[in-house]
Amino acid sequence: MSTAQLIDGKAFAAGLRTQIVEGVGQFQQATARVPGLAVVLVGEDPASKVYVGSKEKQTVEVGMRSFAHRLPADTAQADLIALVQQLNADPAVDGILVQLPLPKHLDELAVVSAIDPDKDVDGLHVVNAGRLASGLPGLVSCTPLGCMMLIKHVLGDHLSGKNAVVIGRSILVGKPVAQLLLAANCTVTIAHSRTADLPDVVRRADIVVAAVGRPEMVKADWIKPGACVIDVGINRVPSANEGKTKLVGDVDFAGVSAVAGSITPVPGGVGPMTIACLLYNTLQAARRRAGLADGAAL
Ligand code: NDP
Repeated sequence: MSTAQLIDGKAFAAGLRTQIVEGVGQFQQATARVPGLAVVLVGEDPASKVYVGSKEKQTVEVGMRSFAHRLPADTAQADLIALVQQLNADPAVDGILVQLPLPKHLDELAVVSAIDPDKDVDGLHVVNAGRLASGLPGLVSCTPLGCMMLIKHVLGDHLSGKNAVVIGRSILVGKPVAQLLLAANCTVTIAHSRTADLPDVVRRADIVVAAVGRPEMVKADWIKPGACVIDVGINRVPSANEGKTKLVGDVDFAGVSAVAGSITPVPGGVGPMTIACLLYNTLQAARRRAGLADGAAL
């Protein structure tokens, strides 16, 4: 029996996109142009093609310009860096996203490092990681930003002093989520594959963020009653239907939702927030580049 409040990321993301549409209109009135997002895809990875297609579609839907760059899988490092530099210099481009993973012969760190940090709407440049760690304004990577928006939506201003446990310490999700929770005055523990007695660590948490990549790992008896549980995991597993697969998170949703106070489903929780936050970051980058104050804090 489910008792937890369901955190509807799909609905929240739709609301965020509506605010972004308004923000784009205000930006256009102030600057006589609309924000632009350049998305670079190298190669033919099917999942990346789907992600990039969704990003470009939603960019146009909120009224921004989308610049699509498709490069062959055998693109040389120098040519990719040259494209990034060209986009850095293009005044119509406010955000640059190079879809990862890149083909194996390309150096992802070097490519991401070539992006102007003020156009790094994926928030992966070390300058933006440093700004986040230092409490300076920058661009925060999209999935952690989406997690934080959902946590604030549910818990409001009641984050100060809460115990938060983030399971996972990746540069993409775990570390930035932990930094955002710390900035909101939570007491933060970062757990990982070497953490001793993980269930006991998680049991102390008022807020749990699971970003592991292990299907339904977090069980009901790990959860403090009433905790807010954010499930970042996306895992494809066999379904009861012969030959079919389904998506599950890192949290045992059925069990945990009987104990938690609030929980994100998979799909429909954190997932839809990621692209919405990419658009949010593009608008923020455009506003800053134009010398306009940041939009309302979300
Ligand atoms: P990574 O593989 O980069 O990191 C996984 C982390 O989980 C590592 O820090 C690892 O620890 C830790 N870990 C692995 N096994 C265990 C374990 N048994 N106990 C505790 N910790 C463990 O993954 P990402 O951070 O990139 O992604 C995590 C999940 O989130 C994936 O399912 C991914 O698909 C999903 N995701 C979803 C997004 C969305 O839009 N909703 C966006 C990005 C990711 P260690 O460091 O010690 O190895």
